[in-house]
Amino acid sequence: MSHVVIVGGGFAGVWSAAAAARVRGSGDLRVTLIAPGADLVLRPRLYEPDPERAAVALKRFLGPIGVEHFRAAVQDIDVDAHRVIADGETIGYDRLVLAAGSRLVRPAIPGADRLFDVDTLDGARRLRGHLRGRDGYTAVVVGAGFAGLEVATELAGRGRVILVEQAGEVGPDLGPGPRPAIEVALDRLGVERRLGTTVTEVEENGAVLADGSSIPADAVIWTGGLRANPLTAQIPGDRDRLGRLIVDAHLRVDGDVFAAGDVAAARADEGRWTVQSCQHATPMGKTAGHNAAADLLGVPPVDFAPAPYVTDVDLGAAGAVYTRGWDRLIALTGPEGQWVKRWIMDVIHPPLDDAPTILAHAGVITTPVPF
Ligand SMILES: Cc1cc2nc3c(=O)[nH]c(=O)nc-3n(C[C@H](O)[C@H](O)[C@H](O)COP(=O)(O)OP(=O)(O)OC[C@H]3O[C@@H](n4cnc5c(N)ncnc54)[C@H](O)[C@@H]3O)c2cc1C
Repeated sequence: MSHVVIVGGGFAGVWSAAAAARVRGSGDLRVTLIAPGADLVLRPRLYEPDPERAAVALKRFLGPIGVEHFRAAVQDIDVDAHRVIADGETIGYDRLVLAAGSRLVRPAIPGADRLFDVDTLDGARRLRGHLRGRDGYTAVVVGAGFAGLEVATELAGRGRVILVEQAGEVGPDLGPGPRPAIEVALDRLGVERRLGTTVTEVEENGAVLADGSSIPADAVIWTGGLRANPLTAQIPGDRDRLGRLIVDAHLRVDGDVFAAGDVAAARADEGRWTVQSCQHATPMGKTAGHNAAADLLGVPPVDFAPAPYVTDVDLGAAGAVYTRGWDRLIALTGPEGQWVKRWIMDVIHPPLDDAPTILAHAGVITTPVPF
């Protein structure tokens, strides 16, 4: 029996698995997802006060649709031999979907092991456990990008927050579109900014900045940037500056290997490259899973066609800023922006326990945005 193997149990991995299972129908095709954890982790929720809400049991999604979950981490991929090695087990495949996601780029600075993060479930649990019972805390958040802004504004409710950003403005990658609304929100919440500098050392009780000044703090939270999983280096192909494999419109890297989510760069709408986001990882997963199974079953492939690009940055008690298009023009702010954010957080939660519903969702590659 032919075998589709998916590496990774994030948005891209689970939706690859569901799309492959949908194409299989009642046909002969084995679908296996390899990931070490028991849960799909909804990483966009990890800045929230209760990180446990970000964990979704994989067995409730994969079990009903007949996808095997092999709980292990892949260490080796041999594309010539069509096999992967995961925790000592060799698993052969006919088509491989790499969906192993991304990792926070951590700095090589003294005291880096004292840094907190909201990149993984364990990281978010550690941060919340550390701050529990310390109302009135001081937190230094390093990086004023998407994740940094969300965690800084969330934490601002119960303590003093200092946002450190090496660029000269907040949200450097978000561009000028949403910046005025972000600045207003940061002012309203009293989030202090130290721009054009970075943290060069983390001490037991605070952070040292590039100019040698110190900020006493209960926690220093690093939000840096994301880089594609190092497994991408084992797949022959072109890569971008984030280490992502360049894929074609079917999300094929080459030969029998597909890639989806944060490990892959595909053309999105308006000819732009996809960004490392669940809004792209989900349709990428569905496309790659469909095409991997379709290749083996003689079914026509589908092209990757995501919905128009949007962003929604949660700004805590100051609402959220929702933007449309690649220039990120503001569409909604305040409570309206936050309403859309909540809608997004609901939509990214996959259906569970019910095979027809899961498979029906897998067949809808593009989820339209509400505004
Ligand atoms: C704090 C934060 C906020 C964010 N906010 C937003 C947002 O508002 N909107 C948005 O669109 N995006 C947001 N993102 C980005 C989004 O979470 C990612 O782009 C998305 O999770 C990528 O999905 P993925 O499936 O490619 O990878 P991941 O979610 O990273 O999943 C990777 C999977 O691969 C598994 N894996 C890793 N290594 C191996 C291995 N060696 N073998 C087997 N399995 C492996 C992991 O265990 C995991 O199951 C945010 C991210 C963070 C951290």
